[in-house]
Amino acid sequence: MEHTNRDGQPVAIITDIQRYTIHDGPGIRTEFFFKGCPLSCPWCSNPETVRPYPEIGVYPTKCMGKQKCGWCLKECPLGNDSPIAFDSDDNLLPVIMRDECKGCYKCVDACPGGGLKLWGKSYTMDEMLKLANQDRSFYERTGGGVTVSGGDVMMQWEFAADFLRECHEQLHINTCMETEVLCPQEHLDAVLAHTDLAIFDIKHIDSAAHRKLCGVPNERILENIAHAAKIGTRIVIRTPVVPGYNDSEENIRGIASFIRDSIGGSLVQWQLLMFRKLGVEKLDSLGREYQMSDYEPPSSEDRQAQLEKLRDMVSSEYGIEVAVGSDGKLPL
Ligand code: SF4
Ligand code: SF4
Repeated sequence: MEHTNRDGQPVAIITDIQRYTIHDGPGIRTEFFFKGCPLSCPWCSNPETVRPYPEIGVYPTKCMGKQKCGWCLKECPLGNDSPIAFDSDDNLLPVIMRDECKGCYKCVDACPGGGLKLWGKSYTMDEMLKLANQDRSFYERTGGGVTVSGGDVMMQWEFAADFLRECHEQLHINTCMETEVLCPQEHLDAVLAHTDLAIFDIKHIDSAAHRKLCGVPNERILENIAHAAKIGTRIVIRTPVVPGYNDSEENIRGIASFIRDSIGGSLVQWQLLMFRKLGVEKLDSLGREYQMSDYEPPSSEDRQAQLEKLRDMVSSEYGIEVAVGSDGKLPL
């Protein structure tokens, strides 16, 4: 999906830009979170990135109310038709984005207390490159660079491919992308052409189980990963291990077999990630419910022990490089 601004320039819709990150690629990096994702995993920790368009989140505890403040409504050109609304006790309600909304975000800019937050800001290529370049001394010292993730960056693959190409050709910066990789192969090829390291998720090896969990089957995902390996992409695989959902030894062995047979020497590392209940506050801001609100995971000690057991099982049976978590140093 390609986005343009009012001047017709291509833009990326970005929910967050994190500097000095160390988890998504080697060294110190600047990470750009693209908006839009084709999956619907119930444990999603970045739910504000799922829908492919900007959204306004609400934080009622930071809002002074319409009577005392009301700047959002005063600035909104829609007047009484504004989607910004309050209940009878003057509490800010979730914003339901409607077609009439002009996307001016004057409401967010006018808010003095943090009651409103814009999830998904537009950036032109020049703005993105300037941001990518500002920490280059850190990249040079640590072997770091720029990472594009999301959401799923492949939802904005045209912009991502151009951005990573400019990072390479203009700025000479190392590039990494993290993606769910559910996309046509030619889109993937366009982005991989300018990617030094690709991080792909495999959540379940069984397609029916994958569909039940994440809303989509996994054939295309696995085909794309095998293709990326075949053309020599350096690959990190990630599996968020969620007890009771995808943590069976059968599933982990199935993923290990796929990695051995279809990724082989292109694998840099397989990371088993611990489940954490994150993203609840962001979902609240959007007026949506956390799908796993009743789920009580085992203690963090038990989850850590389980991951270590699975790691040891895979290492001894398959001889694959497995890490628990994403903190470990990646080879450059
Ligand atoms: S983005 Fe603009 S039109 Fe939409 S609610 Fe805010 S001020 Fe009103
Ligand atoms: S401008 Fe912000 S603080 Fe003021 S009423 Fe609107 S949401 Fe609340």
